[in-house]
Amino acid sequence: MPQIVFERQAPQQSVIDAALAGSVNLPFWGDDVAHRRRVFPPFHGQSRTDLAIVGGGFLGLWTAILAKERQPERTVVLLESQQVGWAASGRNGGFCEASLTHGEENGQQRWPEEMPQLDALGLQNLDEIEATIRRYGIDCDFERTGVLVVAVEPYQDEQLRGEGYMTREEICAQLNSPTFLSGFWEKDSTAMIHPGKLVLELARVACELGVQIHEQSAVTALQSRGNRVRLATAQGELDAARVVLATNAFPSLLKRYRWHTIPVYDYVLMTEPLSEVQLAAIGWNNRQGIADMANQFHYYRITRDNRILFGGYDAVYNFGGKVSREYDDRPQSFERLASHFFTTFPQLAGLRFSHRWGGAIDTSTRFCAFFALARGGKVAYAAGFTGLGVGATRFAANVLLDKLDGLDTERTRLRMVREIPPPFPPEPLTYVAVQATRWSLNQADHNHGKRNLMLRTMDALGLGFDS
Ligand SMILES: Cc1cc2nc3c(=O)[nH]c(=O)nc-3n(C[C@H](O)[C@H](O)[C@H](O)COP(=O)(O)OP(=O)(O)OC[C@H]3O[C@@H](n4cnc5c(N)ncnc54)[C@H](O)[C@@H]3O)c2cc1C
Repeated sequence: MPQIVFERQAPQQSVIDAALAGSVNLPFWGDDVAHRRRVFPPFHGQSRTDLAIVGGGFLGLWTAILAKERQPERTVVLLESQQVGWAASGRNGGFCEASLTHGEENGQQRWPEEMPQLDALGLQNLDEIEATIRRYGIDCDFERTGVLVVAVEPYQDEQLRGEGYMTREEICAQLNSPTFLSGFWEKDSTAMIHPGKLVLELARVACELGVQIHEQSAVTALQSRGNRVRLATAQGELDAARVVLATNAFPSLLKRYRWHTIPVYDYVLMTEPLSEVQLAAIGWNNRQGIADMANQFHYYRITRDNRILFGGYDAVYNFGGKVSREYDDRPQSFERLASHFFTTFPQLAGLRFSHRWGGAIDTSTRFCAFFALARGGKVAYAAGFTGLGVGATRFAANVLLDKLDGLDTERTRLRMVREIPPPFPPEPLTYVAVQATRWSLNQADHNHGKRNLMLRTMDALGLGFDS
């Protein structure tokens, strides 16, 4: 198999080992704000509420805030099984993208007639996130820098030619890497955020609006009781008129949706802050997010304190589809990422990684969120963001509230919102299918992007696997 640039120009093993040696297996974002994290008491006893939200990530928190903004008198209780923002919302790359469809190509393939509307709604959602951040004085290092998409192989360079094409010289004037052949700058559709700060600040705003948040309060069962729903936790019972399930990659409390998502693990490294000399060696004055173009792609970005986050490439599905802490540390993925990092930035040899972590991505067969109503319209559920939920969760929160409130809106009329994708097949089929797909994607990346029969058939059926 022909090699890819990260294999042709691999750094020495000693550079990788030294860089990883002092790193801790912990998401940087939460560690960075640990000193100002507020602890919320567990839920116990019996009580009633207008709206119960299960899950304290971005989806649960945005739902809580929007529910209060729409109807300040509505009572809202949020139940989180561990800590607010400990899961995907505190582990991601912090790319807050306008796309609601996991990119243009995926949307065009599935809902071509709706794409102008979906693009406009996605941009409106990002604008509203920015406006909300301003309105509540949310401190989350929001920078609307856009994304540089970079070609690192000749076939990718050919795919990029067209409007907005930037030559190697132009792209390296933005960020200097010997791997870049060309690229383009999507300027308006993405912002960089600090996920740990955003989670804490959304929880602050939700509390200020009157939302009650409880941590260490896993919901173990949902039961319809007349026109209300009872939520059971270890120490109490919450009786709710309406419920939003915002549980992402964790097992759905609605049995029928258990196999509509599978947890796919993605891995991330964070460096120490760069010195002035190191920064000067790479440029990056406009501080864009970066994404390269293979099936197995990397995403990287710079933080407010000039660290580099470098993630992606491996996308690992473990047999049985569990979310488990044992999957957070995967030495071979971190070594691969560190190796690819120093291929990308050989001028930074000697820089060390302070943090390394993994996180579960809720992959759905359509690669973007689906929206469901259950229990006679009293329970609403969204999941399946497939690695692009930092911005899209806010749109999803609005969809779920529209649905629960029985509203007929531009959002609820979308075919993309009305359609439910097929589930993954039960084990061992999912495991086998995912391994075969990963193998095929790796082959394609090593073969000028050429997709084999299996991938072409899956493309035609609108099925697949992504992170
Ligand atoms: C490594 C990584 C990198 C990523 N990078 C990006 C990126 O750069 N840009 C982007 O847009 N997206 C990215 N994503 C995806 C993004 O982080 C998610 O789509 C988003 O955070 C999902 O938010 P959420 O609220 O749905 O889920 P989560 O943050 O996972 O929150 C779900 C919460 O529900 C709780 N919960 C589950 N079950 C129960 C229960 N029974 N009772 C009570 N609580 C329960 C969990 O404890 C958890 O806190 C990335 C994800 C990962 C893992």
